[in-house]
Amino acid sequence: MLLGKRRSSLSLDSNKYWQYLQLSKAHKLQSKNITPYRYYYTNSQSYYELVKSVLRHYPNFEFRYEAVQGMQDVSEGVVVSTSQNTYHAKWVFSSLAVIPPKNTLSIRQHFRGWYIRTQEPSFDDQSIRLMDFRTSQQDGASFFYMLPLSPYQALVEYTVISKKQYEESVYEQKLEHYIKQVLGIAHYELLHQKKGLIPMTNYRFPRRSGKHIMRIGTAGGMTKACTVFTYKNMLEDARQIVRQLEKNGQPYYKTRPSTRFRFYDNLLLYILKNHPMAARHIFEKMFSKNKGALILRFLDEKTTLWEEASLFISLPWPPYLNALWSYYMPDMLKLNFSWTWTKPGYYANKQSTEAQ
Ligand SMILES: Cc1cc2nc3c(=O)[nH]c(=O)nc-3n(C[C@H](O)[C@H](O)[C@H](O)COP(=O)(O)OP(=O)(O)OC[C@H]3O[C@@H](n4cnc5c(N)ncnc54)[C@H](O)[C@@H]3O)c2cc1C
Repeated sequence: MLLGKRRSSLSLDSNKYWQYLQLSKAHKLQSKNITPYRYYYTNSQSYYELVKSVLRHYPNFEFRYEAVQGMQDVSEGVVVSTSQNTYHAKWVFSSLAVIPPKNTLSIRQHFRGWYIRTQEPSFDDQSIRLMDFRTSQQDGASFFYMLPLSPYQALVEYTVISKKQYEESVYEQKLEHYIKQVLGIAHYELLHQKKGLIPMTNYRFPRRSGKHIMRIGTAGGMTKACTVFTYKNMLEDARQIVRQLEKNGQPYYKTRPSTRFRFYDNLLLYILKNHPMAARHIFEKMFSKNKGALILRFLDEKTTLWEEASLFISLPWPPYLNALWSYYMPDMLKLNFSWTWTKPGYYANKQSTEAQ
């Protein structure tokens, strides 16, 4: 967390960005201009270096790498025990993972990515490939994602949204097949790899883990359930927390609940979890029938109700009607009037497990 006047220098400052997105449609690719939006690339290492270079100007900051073993609220703050020390703090901002309770609508996005280099120019570096569904959808919604960093270099990722992860060799075979058969690249050099597992959940992560412990990041609910985009929300959250601390000496600020967007996310999560084969059709339709900027504004939760209606009209209805019926109807039929579009019962703080 950064306090002080230099915080503006932490804005997303990448010079690598794209204004064209591609998505598959049957056996072809469709392309969209997303102006005035830009799709930025920033790698975590350069971001950490940026943060460190700013913090170097503040002698009151220190980095310590110790495993947190426990946190206890006391009257004036928090006592944090680590493998090496005990610390006292007025406020703690914790990004320790929180596992959503079992009764939530949760699924996993898991992926492997290869940074590859070719001898010949092989990539159109004006467009990113957001979702290329030209792969089997049997075990879950699956697609390839490709960021061309130059005509000679790209990150190619195989992503699956499913209940279970795969054996390592499955990701490798899929990536190899895509690079050779779909991209038509016979010879390439594998520079390095990345892998990830991100939970997609409608669990409403409580902000407080104690009177003086505020959860941040994914644990603080900054991950959008159906896109897993987190980064931008985290930056905005950090700005708001700093503003509150400067103004009121405490970090909590009021948020407007985005009820409609939770409702849309719930429906899509339900479809991804229970009818993953429908995902391809939904995304392909959304992309082909709507303007690029509108889609991004929708994913950013900045659209109006009218814009959302126009977007939903373009989508295939049966999976959405089925999700509405199966996910929301049981509560309605039980006349469970604590029911709302967002099923707020998932706030159940005590059911969550803090992984420490
Ligand atoms: C591979 C990958 C790619 C992603 N790409 C994007 C993207 O392009 N755009 C986007 O918006 N989001 C993306 N995300 C999602 C999100 O931005 C990241 O997951 C982000 O790092 C979440 O930040 P965080 O602080 O909540 O958690 P983390 O970055 O996971 O930080 C938690 C930290 O706590 C530490 N920790 C855990 N337990 C202890 C303990 N007991 N003691 C001390 N330290 C502990 C961990 O080592 C870790 O450093 C991506 C996620 C992954 C995994």
